[in-house]
Amino acid sequence: MRIHPVPAFSDNYIWCLTNLESGKTLIVDPGQAKPVLDYLSDSGFSADTILITHHHPDHTGGVKELQQQYPDIRIVGPTDSPFKGATNTVHAGDEVVWEGITFNVLAVPGHTLDHIAYYSDTQVNDKPVLFCGDTLFVCGCGRLFEGTPEQMHTSLQTLRDLPDDTAVYCAHEYTLANLRFARHWLPEDKALAEFENACKDLRERGKPTVPTTIGQEKQLNPFLRWDDAMVIEAAENYSTTHRLATGSDCAVFAAVRHGKDNF
Ligand SMILES: [Zn+2]
Repeated sequence: MRIHPVPAFSDNYIWCLTNLESGKTLIVDPGQAKPVLDYLSDSGFSADTILITHHHPDHTGGVKELQQQYPDIRIVGPTDSPFKGATNTVHAGDEVVWEGITFNVLAVPGHTLDHIAYYSDTQVNDKPVLFCGDTLFVCGCGRLFEGTPEQMHTSLQTLRDLPDDTAVYCAHEYTLANLRFARHWLPEDKALAEFENACKDLRERGKPTVPTTIGQEKQLNPFLRWDDAMVIEAAENYSTTHRLATGSDCAVFAAVRHGKDNF
């Protein structure tokens, strides 16, 4: 299996998963068709399945054109969604089988209310994989356009509970911007400083910082560290200044999100 990021717009990644024996390719969140069609024709692959995580146009805008090119393509997307182009709608607990790989559908509302993620335990190159759209980013998380902090905190808890070696395929290259905020929020965190240097080096060489892993995000990402003393202290200081609630895991998360939104 090959997993390849097709860059789109200024900072999206459209993840393409290909069975190298058959050339059949699964595409996650094609916001644009052209870069995907170029990648497929250059590689000699053909698309047979699209997975949609949520309705935003930068994740769905290329679906129609791909469907014109591949009329039998299966388009999997969330039920109760403003995106109406799915041929197969799914919700939490459903399974999507592709080339013998089973993806479990997880509900992860917060960024949008329809947001779902696709998780497979060990069937892609012997590793767990997660396609999480705009829920979890490297050292960041999605903005709360539709959901509440409570919903997003629960969704991130669901992702945090996945195995540490899960490869996390986020839909954007937001890492350096996220790290600027994380370093401002947690200036004493040496691991974050080291990680920022490593990511700057990758970006200077034109390489993606994605995928990350659940284990790495649990150590570094301030949006997943609501029970980490350093993050709790920063959140309580911020919440006191900004008159926000304190005293719960969700309040810590909400303070970090508020801080990033106003950074
Ligand atoms: Zn989005």
